[in-house]
Amino acid sequence: MPNQTLWGHPKGLYILFFTELWERFSYYGMRAILVLYVTAKTTALNPGMGWNNVSALELYGWYTMMVYVMSVPGGLLADRFLGQKKTVLLGGFLLCIGHFILAFDTLWAFYTGIVLIILGVGGLKPNISTMVGGLYKSGDVKRDTAFTIFYIGINIGAFTAPLIVGYVGEEINWHYGFGLAGIGMAIGQIVYMFGQKYLKTVGNFVPVIKENGIRKKVKLTSIEKDRMLVLILSFIIVIVFWGAYEQAGGLMNLFARDKIDRSIMGFVIPASYFQALPAFYVILFGMPIAYLWTQWRKMGKESSSLFKMGIGTIIMGFGFLLLAKAASNASISFDGKASVYWLFAVYLLHVIGELSISPVALSFITKLAPVKYASLMMGIYFMVTGLGNKLAGMLGEAAQNTSEKTIFISVFIFCVAFGLVLVLFVKKLKKLTHGADVDSNTNPIVEIS
Ligand code: GLN
Repeated sequence: MPNQTLWGHPKGLYILFFTELWERFSYYGMRAILVLYVTAKTTALNPGMGWNNVSALELYGWYTMMVYVMSVPGGLLADRFLGQKKTVLLGGFLLCIGHFILAFDTLWAFYTGIVLIILGVGGLKPNISTMVGGLYKSGDVKRDTAFTIFYIGINIGAFTAPLIVGYVGEEINWHYGFGLAGIGMAIGQIVYMFGQKYLKTVGNFVPVIKENGIRKKVKLTSIEKDRMLVLILSFIIVIVFWGAYEQAGGLMNLFARDKIDRSIMGFVIPASYFQALPAFYVILFGMPIAYLWTQWRKMGKESSSLFKMGIGTIIMGFGFLLLAKAASNASISFDGKASVYWLFAVYLLHVIGELSISPVALSFITKLAPVKYASLMMGIYFMVTGLGNKLAGMLGEAAQNTSEKTIFISVFIFCVAFGLVLVLFVKKLKKLTHGADVDSNTNPIVEIS
């Protein structure tokens, strides 16, 4: 084949990178204005739907959960019928149509658009992630780096969308904002369609072997069963992590609005801008953190995915200790507000934690899941992150009846204790992976089918 790699990675990675960048641009762009649009008054210059805050937040909670829950049927569809490549294509089409329908200013368009987007993300998100893993052989050390690169793409979309779509939607017209998100998705879809020649070997449907016309049941080997078990255990980490982290959009957002002095050199930073900060940090620190972990591994230190996830949870947990300190400062300061620098530090710790968990988990799943269940396991992973989002919302609600400080301290203690337990048991858990999590170019593991 002609030169199929670029900067040490298969060209297909860059196709998936840009497709997902634009998909996330449309997702986060639409998400940024959704609540603002539905709560805007119907009589406003840029009219919305006139809902109250509670209904709007409820819709938001269900919506952000459902997009990820639909990753399970999205994964099944790929494993059973279409393969990942075609399911991504289908999801992308649904997303384009969904976003463009939202550009119309009628009620049916609103609900139809939302349903199509939920179905579209379900088809696209888990399967494109599995395809990234499919570009690499077992044991290839480049796989983790590839997921970091892919994750940076996600966050370029996540960072730019709220600023651009948010501006157009809020300042000009909500429906132009939705339309703009649709244009982003269309660009992603075009990149994907024209990049097919670099994706020939990945994401194809693997038919189940048939015997005499009857579907043959493929039994898992005991090794595969162990790997599935450790994957399912790792999903508990995922709920804990996102349950804490995703308070960014809820409780921490309100905390930033009400209890942080957001003025720097006479300029008051709008609370919503802090929503773009984690994505910005990911773009900035994605590679350095991946590099640090590589150096750590080269020093012969423990660097399994589960270990990284444990450390990531602990580091993110310490972010909540800082938040608790900020809450306590705010409560004793004369204006009831704490310094803005706390937030910069908190989000930095959260993102260092995120980079040790999120891309690592994506990579981990593609290493451990049996081929037959690859997309389904990825789908379940995203569903679990959806549950984490819901948990974060519930913690935010709980804070309304106690104090933020109590919630922040509790999250800190829980995350650090949980991370430590994980680190303690990492050797035992690692055994269940049967070498699938060993990254080495010089010592590739033996493929077990
Ligand atoms: N921020 C990441 C993304 O949008 C992770 C989201 C998640 O896993 N819930 O892909």
